[in-house]
Amino acid sequence: MTHYGLPDGYVQIAFSGGRTSAFLLHQILDANGDLPERCVVSFQNTGREMPETLDFVAEVGHRWGVHVVWLEYRPDAPFFEVVGHNSASRDGEPFEALIKKRKYLPNQQARFCTAELKVRTAKRYLVSLKWDRWSNIIGIRSDEPQRLNKPKPKDRWIDLMPLAAAGVTRRVVADFWTKQPFDLALPNVGGNCWLGNCDGCFLKSEANIAAFTRDFPDRAAWWERMEDDVTGLTKTAASAQFSKRYSRKEMRTYMDRQGDLALSGTADFCQAREGECMA
Ligand code: SF4
Repeated sequence: MTHYGLPDGYVQIAFSGGRTSAFLLHQILDANGDLPERCVVSFQNTGREMPETLDFVAEVGHRWGVHVVWLEYRPDAPFFEVVGHNSASRDGEPFEALIKKRKYLPNQQARFCTAELKVRTAKRYLVSLKWDRWSNIIGIRSDEPQRLNKPKPKDRWIDLMPLAAAGVTRRVVADFWTKQPFDLALPNVGGNCWLGNCDGCFLKSEANIAAFTRDFPDRAAWWERMEDDVTGLTKTAASAQFSKRYSRKEMRTYMDRQGDLALSGTADFCQAREGECMA
């Protein structure tokens, strides 16, 4: 059996809506054929995914004949809902409900959005199926050492990373998609799909957030509104900002003033990304 054979027992295949995890799903389908009932492919929608991502998830399911379970966080029991391409939230509703419940914002130090909107949402769904323990197959490549070396969760599941074990790199994934009749309709810049995951995610570089603010002002306004809405509710001003260095309002004002000049290479936006969101 290849690296992509299914393990025994219950299996979750985590589909983030990106090219790498779709490639992983393809390899698993290739190796195993139709998936048995003990296997769930899940996609957790935060409501801040770009529409292209939602379309891609739907197209993968349709073209490859695989059932993808679309899940969203809810603030009340059972704390998740199964949705679909048509009914999926498109204006950050699950994310906003979580922020309203916590009364502060996630940031690089407190990434409760990943934990609640993605990890626990999937867990609650799988437990509702009466799963006790399972394997969680995730799309981490061999060229992502910072993600490979994360501490393993002490929970009901173990993480399996067949792409890393198979030595799959960014280039392998990119080559695969050049040969497919469809693709994720979001730009890939130097191997970075900077509009993937939540559109204005605080883990993205300042340069990415600046470009996002300039190119998608309506979508950037949601992030600014979240900062406004929790101001006064939080204990510290820092927990009313997604990023330590700037508020989203400051970023918008700066981009309004500087426009293209700010992204022409002369501005001192930090290019560092603070990791990846991983379900
Ligand atoms: S993509 Fe970013 S903002 Fe969205 S859930 Fe993950 S860490 Fe949070």
